[in-house]
Amino acid sequence: MSFPYEAPVSQSLFDRASAVTPGGVNSPVRAFRAVGGTPRFMVSGTGPYLTDADGREYVDLVCSWGPMILGHSHPEVIAAVQEAVARGTSFGTPGAGEVELAEEIVARIEPVEQVRLVSSGTEATMSAIRLARGFTGRPKVIKFAGCYHGHVDALLAAAGSGVATFGLPDTPGVTGAQAGDTIVLPYNDLEAVRAAFAAHPGEIACVITEAAPGNMGVVPPLPGFNQGLKDLCAADGALYISDEVMTGFRVSKAGWYGIDGVRPDLMTFGKVMGGGFPAAAFGGRADVMAHLAPAGPVYQAGTLSGNPIATAAGVAQLRLLDDAAYEKVDAVSAEVRDLVTAALAKEGVAHRVQAAGNMFTVFFTDAEVTDYDAAKAQESFRFTAFFHSMLSQGVYLPPSAFESWFVSTAHDAAAVERIAAALPAAARAAAGATA
Ligand code: PLP
Repeated sequence: MSFPYEAPVSQSLFDRASAVTPGGVNSPVRAFRAVGGTPRFMVSGTGPYLTDADGREYVDLVCSWGPMILGHSHPEVIAAVQEAVARGTSFGTPGAGEVELAEEIVARIEPVEQVRLVSSGTEATMSAIRLARGFTGRPKVIKFAGCYHGHVDALLAAAGSGVATFGLPDTPGVTGAQAGDTIVLPYNDLEAVRAAFAAHPGEIACVITEAAPGNMGVVPPLPGFNQGLKDLCAADGALYISDEVMTGFRVSKAGWYGIDGVRPDLMTFGKVMGGGFPAAAFGGRADVMAHLAPAGPVYQAGTLSGNPIATAAGVAQLRLLDDAAYEKVDAVSAEVRDLVTAALAKEGVAHRVQAAGNMFTVFFTDAEVTDYDAAKAQESFRFTAFFHSMLSQGVYLPPSAFESWFVSTAHDAAAVERIAAALPAAARAAAGATA
């Protein structure tokens, strides 16, 4: 496909980046490979807008892949960061900020009795799995195709997000030994989980699932699925790990747990809780967390864990996220979903907008998407045309058909109006696209 609009400064930065960094990026989906064209190098963000190196402004529907739920450069978050940074950037000792952030998390999410801070969602899921294995003394882990839990070796099998975007079945560099204890099952299929427990009695340490998956596009759990997982785990003595790195503090004050109320043994968090900085966490039952060093024998550590700038940003952001904030994000999300639906319907484009709380994805298919195979069956070439039309009109969507779109409290009427104005042409582009 041709790209009628240019981004010369981004292109020259991308050329320089490609000389010194594999693929020119530090996280694969940023490279635009699934949609083609020049990735935009952003230089600033304010409220719902991003500005690229060529000086073009975009309404941002990625929100840094979830974290920026208050929009960019929220004054109170920036002030908290400035105040913290003036006191120093890292001490390698305990600090008050990490206590405050842990208390905020424990106060919001009832099943989390104790929490350990880390620096990325990947570290959170990797550590939660190690802890589950250490606690149960069992080797095997059940995960679901299309769920992404970061780039943990054992969890990359049939993963979503970038692994889905690039159509990678698995990744070289992960040995059979690392992946051999991972059982990958189709999402939303409780019978498959039941059969796996029956086939491996006393061997399964945990089931890890995205609380409501956003990494194969948004595919919410069918009614009873999460509760069924919890019950099967409890009956077998395995742990139920709910990965809320994406949904946590985003879809409600208590994340997806606040919506479905299924009580996990362990949970993982990231994104929103860091306020745009590298902060993540895992936590849950106190008797399980007691197995973690230095309280217990399962080792886990990090030089920058609980970093004072990151914790200051996270605490400031979480404290601003009251009921009114979630009502606002939910309302904007519903508004944008309705606009997209209307525009695509007008052009007769087969589509399905699926939501989990305020996260949503536009699938280019009219079939319900309940698992990874169904997500992959969509007409993603239509997304490519849709994406580039929106981009050229100043709306920044995730550069992949297998990702969630995100909005923020800062997406006001003016931002929504810009999205609405761009949609008719994008819908026409999607209608006219060919495989
Ligand atoms: N778990 C889920 C559900 C995620 O969506 C992600 C990232 O997108 C991760 C884990 C990994 O988090 P990070 O990218 O911070 O390592």
